[in-house]
Amino acid sequence: MKVHNFSAGPSILPKEVMHQAAEAVKELDGSGLSLIEISHRSKAFIDIMKEACALALELTGLKDKGYKAIFLQGGASQQFLMAAYNLLENKAGYVNTGTWSNKAIKEAKLFGEVIELASSKEENFNYIPKGYSIPSDLDYVHLTTNNTIFGTQLKETPTTEVPLAADMSSDIFSREFDYSKFDLFYAGAQKNMGPAGATLVLIKEDLFGKVSRAIPSMLNYKTHADAGSMFNTPPVFAVYTSMLNMQWIKSQGGVKALGEKNMVKATLLYGEIDRNSKFVGFAAKEDRSEMNATFNLVNPNDAEAFDGLCQAAGISGLKGHRSVGGYRASMYNAMPINSVEILVDCMQTLEEKY
Ligand SMILES: *Cc1c(COP(=O)(O)O)cnc(C)c1O
Repeated sequence: MKVHNFSAGPSILPKEVMHQAAEAVKELDGSGLSLIEISHRSKAFIDIMKEACALALELTGLKDKGYKAIFLQGGASQQFLMAAYNLLENKAGYVNTGTWSNKAIKEAKLFGEVIELASSKEENFNYIPKGYSIPSDLDYVHLTTNNTIFGTQLKETPTTEVPLAADMSSDIFSREFDYSKFDLFYAGAQKNMGPAGATLVLIKEDLFGKVSRAIPSMLNYKTHADAGSMFNTPPVFAVYTSMLNMQWIKSQGGVKALGEKNMVKATLLYGEIDRNSKFVGFAAKEDRSEMNATFNLVNPNDAEAFDGLCQAAGISGLKGHRSVGGYRASMYNAMPINSVEILVDCMQTLEEKY
């Protein structure tokens, strides 16, 4: 049976990307060797890394704009501390939009003063704070563009002279977006870019050397930028597969075309959540995420029936995060609209039959 993968992460990738990646593990481009046994210093792998970095810059429209793309390990979680280690000299501002922002704030506090510019905590993070003021003496402002757990997404980037940093783990490459407003942004691969194990960082070169503290080599962005992401052995499989996925994104028309498709999927699902008397959406309408839709049953007693319908239809990974409960439908780039239609069918069947 076809499985419709709504998992929040690790998550769906295009079938053709998965097939190509599997082939490369068996043998890379007729070389007689597997992708995972060649030297990362071989020309074949250096070319892969270069292409992956070039594609990241191209898809975000940041080619020749003074940015470096680097691939690291340690996930977005390591970026919470690296961002502060490299940029926080005195004071930074953080917008608290949920679990991941909280974790970023906790790490940053180890390095300097952290000001919580705004928070939606009092409403269990069901909206994105807006209209807060940003003091001009901050080293940077940190945002989370998509809150994977709560299903909210930043639609409008605040205007400020202060450098902007962002965790884009769950919505990078998902929409047309002015990435150049951000001086530093990062994403763990396993949501919308590739398999777990690699983290993509895009950083403006003028951010190097901003702090007076000594930074350990492995945690210094400049080390990795200077070494072409080869300071230590990179996660070759995750980088290669991310590269294949970025090629796929490009072949689909880039982030603009995919953004339009993602909008259609999200509009379909949210339309049903709002129409169907059995369901209620979690996030404030104007802040709804196009990647992760969070919703609950009006009557929790319907859970058994709805879960049964979903299971019979091959729907996988729909359970909500424990801090929100209910359901979360993650609709990353690789998810076809047909999978969303099938979920909507299950919601309609629940309303009609139960
Ligand atoms: C999943 C996720 C993280 C954590 O990523 P790791 O790669 O597991 O460290 C951080 N931020 C956001 C927005 C996420 O969705």
